[in-house]
Amino acid sequence: MKITEIHVYAHDLPVKNGPYVMANAKVWALDTTLVKLVTDTGLVGWGETCPVGPTYQPHHARGARAALAEMVPALIGANPLQPLLLRRQMDGLLNGHRYAKAAIDIAAYDLTGKAYGVRVADLLGGAITENVPSYYATGVGEPDDIARIAAEKVAEGYPRLQIKIGGRPVEADIAVLRKVWEVIRGKGVRLAADANRGLTTRDALRLSRECPDIPFIMEQPCNTLEEIAAIRGKVHHGIYIDENGEDLAIVIRAAGTGLCDGFGMKVTRIGGLHAMATFRDICEARSMPHTCDDAWGGDIIAAACTHIGSTVQPQLLEGVWLAEPYIEGTYDREGVKVVGGHIKLPEGPGLGVVPEDGMFGEPEFSVG
Ligand SMILES: [Mg+2]
Repeated sequence: MKITEIHVYAHDLPVKNGPYVMANAKVWALDTTLVKLVTDTGLVGWGETCPVGPTYQPHHARGARAALAEMVPALIGANPLQPLLLRRQMDGLLNGHRYAKAAIDIAAYDLTGKAYGVRVADLLGGAITENVPSYYATGVGEPDDIARIAAEKVAEGYPRLQIKIGGRPVEADIAVLRKVWEVIRGKGVRLAADANRGLTTRDALRLSRECPDIPFIMEQPCNTLEEIAAIRGKVHHGIYIDENGEDLAIVIRAAGTGLCDGFGMKVTRIGGLHAMATFRDICEARSMPHTCDDAWGGDIIAAACTHIGSTVQPQLLEGVWLAEPYIEGTYDREGVKVVGGHIKLPEGPGLGVVPEDGMFGEPEFSVG
């Protein structure tokens, strides 16, 4: 099979009841990038990458499209059924920019699944469950508001909550976590406090010392791995790395040196599903829990995250976060949805999401 055409689209995903507030960003709408690979067999595959604004990671939407424009002319004629060789070819065309390469990788998995008549989850080793647990992430907010959302989401069936903190006096974050714990205590729900790099080491230590009785994990509390290493031995809580886990080399270093207890991981940040499966296996070898998410994105991203999430050992899966509850619209009639805090694994073949014809308008650029 050969790739004969590549089309790259830009598409807006409006945030419901926006903005969504994090320590370093407010998000009103997302600019997502879709990639359509067309082959000489007539089969097509879809990929997507969607940075959550330009400050969450060193990624931005137009950067993704510029990186794709740099690579795609040379990918005409490549075999999409060989994701490893495709990744090496992309690495030979452009250094870094894994988040852009991920869109091609995801589209190649979609095509491969369609070509063999199987789901992407099967290509990734096999699904353990058809009903993949999700988690709900609140924005940064006031204690009563966040506690009310926490109670609602637990009642809906979410097995895990993530409370966004940071970007303000730490006393406010401590008050939020105390109030949330009051309402969810004893309900068997796991809890993460995600600062999105927004705490100083001083405030991270204070947060942990003032909440020794609340069993949250601290997700990406500080900006750098050095700051996390500085607080690592002094806190009462497990630490997960998210934004700093930029590639497999950093994951190996963090796991190998005991820098963290687990990860928040984004499929596009690590380079797509091929790299994500390697990440999953590294974590399993060291019994490290992790999420399978993306920063944001529509149904293609949601399907990719759910397929890989379905293959993770249940005791190590911290959930698959989807943007779906926060955004308007779906790409096909069903979309990929969180219902009762869980996501039904799409049936495939491939990703199991077939965008309606013309829904992304004219491509921003095409080759082939
Ligand atoms: Mg995070």
